[in-house]
Amino acid sequence: MYYPVAVAVVKYRNDIFQSDLRAMIFDNSSFLSNAGAYGINDLDLVRYTFSGVAARKLISSETNSENLISIAEKIIEEYFNVKGNKREDYVYRYLDPGLCAYSSYHYKLLQKIEQVLGPFRNIGLTGDYWRGASIEACFRSAEEAVQKLIYMNDIAPEHESC
Ligand SMILES: Cc1cc2nc3c(=O)[nH]c(=O)nc-3n(C[C@H](O)[C@H](O)[C@H](O)COP(=O)(O)OP(=O)(O)OC[C@H]3O[C@@H](n4cnc5c(N)ncnc54)[C@H](O)[C@@H]3O)c2cc1C
Repeated sequence: MYYPVAVAVVKYRNDIFQSDLRAMIFDNSSFLSNAGAYGINDLDLVRYTFSGVAARKLISSETNSENLISIAEKIIEEYFNVKGNKREDYVYRYLDPGLCAYSSYHYKLLQKIEQVLGPFRNIGLTGDYWRGASIEACFRSAEEAVQKLIYMNDIAPEHESC
């Protein structure tokens, strides 16, 4: 299952963050899931991510990006230097589908997929649904898929072909 996400990267005139405090995450009651510096030394560049159950009531392909950014600024102004800090530029994207969501029984789905497709030696499965959505997890699952293809095709050629 995939849910939508909206992301804005905003450049401000002055630094928003301090070098030792460059990001904050918010719980699922917030429209904003996180705000973080878009680079270790880019303290004036913020990536706002809108995802989760609260954000889904607010974001759509019709959402006004400037309003959304204003809402995010209001949320972080208590913690960071955003009040009166001029927005100089920004980029915004709404993605639907966006982020992979996992049910408590996700492992059962994976077992079922493995059962059906695992024996096919020319199919290696990968993706955010497999090992997790982080880039690192996606790389790990891609590596596993490649290893499976190599193993099934080179080391164990006697396996049944699809
Ligand atoms: C807005 C956003 C911000 C994120 N930020 C972070 C982050 O900061 N850190 C982090 O770790 N993760 C982040 N993620 C999560 C991470 O980017 C994804 O979980 C990951 O990219 C998913 O990898 P994937 O290989 O499953 O799919 P994708 O990266 O979507 O790759 C699938 C590829 O398949 C191609 N494709 C699709 N259909 C076909 C077809 N029929 N034929 C050929 N090619 C096809 C697509 O063009 C695409 O290149 C973010 C995700 C989103 C949406």
